[in-house]
Amino acid sequence: MPGKTTKVDMEKIVSLCKRRGFIFPSSEIYGGLGSCWDYGQLGVELKRNVKDAWWRAVVQQRDDVVGIDASIMMHPQAWIASGHVEGFSDPLVECKVCHLRWRADELNGNSCPDCSGELTEPRLFNLMFKTFMGPVEDDASVVYLRPETAQGIFVNFDNVLTTSRKKLPFGIAQMGKSFRNEITTGNFIFRTREFEQMEIEYFVKQGSDEEWFNYWVKERFNWYLNLGIKRDNLRLREHGEEELAHYAKRCCDIDYFFPMGWAELEGIANRGDFDLIQHAKYSGKSLAYFDEGVGESYVPYVIEPSAGVDRSVLAFLIDAYDEELAEGEIRVVLRLHPQLAPIKVAILPLSRNEKLVPLAREVYSKLRSYFMTQYDDAQSIGRRYRRQDEIGTPFCVTIDFQSLEDNQVTIRERDSMSQIRLPIEEMVETLQDKLSGESFATQPLWTAKAVDALEE
Ligand code: ATP
Repeated sequence: MPGKTTKVDMEKIVSLCKRRGFIFPSSEIYGGLGSCWDYGQLGVELKRNVKDAWWRAVVQQRDDVVGIDASIMMHPQAWIASGHVEGFSDPLVECKVCHLRWRADELNGNSCPDCSGELTEPRLFNLMFKTFMGPVEDDASVVYLRPETAQGIFVNFDNVLTTSRKKLPFGIAQMGKSFRNEITTGNFIFRTREFEQMEIEYFVKQGSDEEWFNYWVKERFNWYLNLGIKRDNLRLREHGEEELAHYAKRCCDIDYFFPMGWAELEGIANRGDFDLIQHAKYSGKSLAYFDEGVGESYVPYVIEPSAGVDRSVLAFLIDAYDEELAEGEIRVVLRLHPQLAPIKVAILPLSRNEKLVPLAREVYSKLRSYFMTQYDDAQSIGRRYRRQDEIGTPFCVTIDFQSLEDNQVTIRERDSMSQIRLPIEEMVETLQDKLSGESFATQPLWTAKAVDALEE
């Protein structure tokens, strides 16, 4: 894919998202609500495309992974068993002068980064959102909004195992909303209190867990490369001993080079048998697997690739953003992979001339049953090309007066701005070919056999 690794300001991305209808501040007419964002007409398409690409890759194109969609509110015991009620907390300090709150583990000095005021002693702050189920607000009716989708998978392990008749190794995937009452949010949609996750719990026999861990790191790393994220902007970061959660045997982050620096896009963890054992203990139900091959029961180990939808959307937007000099002016272009682009094809009649409109409408109705299309006839053709470039539309189809004579249209490609002219009846097939990705050069995938072999 053309383009270079540009370090774009976050403000440019936020402004483009607002201006073009990707992402708006939540409840903006009331002044917004801290760290909450709303996906607009283009953002919702981009986000769906990211989720669809993930679901296709990890569920639909595999024999060994099935999907589920569990409820956001779960039995409160599940969060005691998982350790979240006791331990899902961050150390919080407050400035005694300006009263801003900070995460103690993210501070460099021991005074307030904003006003240099004195800070309080850290206290642990549970990140789970609590609410009440039913009409009485008492302790017995407390439920939590899930802080991760993973636990909905563990509690359904046996249901899926017995109804799907899967054999180890196999995985369960889920995506959906999660909620965390984060102390410090920010960097646009990077860290919010309501976000979406895409998680897989992949169950394996103990002993094969290291191999499957390496497999999933490679698989997930290549997913981002396949969808056009530049290799230089991705790295793997292995967690040190001191950073590992008490139950995790190993953890590796896929980091992206965001405008504020390297930060986690996805984490892949080897969680051992911790979760299934905990849920078996607290529920009193066996969550063991009977291995017919060896005639014995055991609790499987689990490898967990856990990604954020919103963080992925942000990374895809940043990575795709490009500015170049074209015909004497700066052209802003989102070089999104065609699979992710919100609009695949724009139909642009040269003008609103009444002779052109019927043919343009006919082309539009023909294309819209195949692709996500947009009909755009406002302003000059040059302005319309720029507008489509800025939202990442891979192809524009232009209908001009010549089209009325020869039944041909012009297809203009976003990245190279090159144009071809072809008969209307060949249009669908040509666009299908081009959108299938072959004309968008993909980069070589990462083929290292072991994670250890990967260099930053
Ligand atoms: P961080 O260290 O950034 O807080 P984490 O290690 O707590 O993240 P996980 O619990 O591993 O995150 O969650 C898996 C994924 O969910 C993350 O890699 C990220 O993409 C996404 N995620 C987690 N917290 C948030 C959040 N507050 N806002 C947006 N996405 C999030």
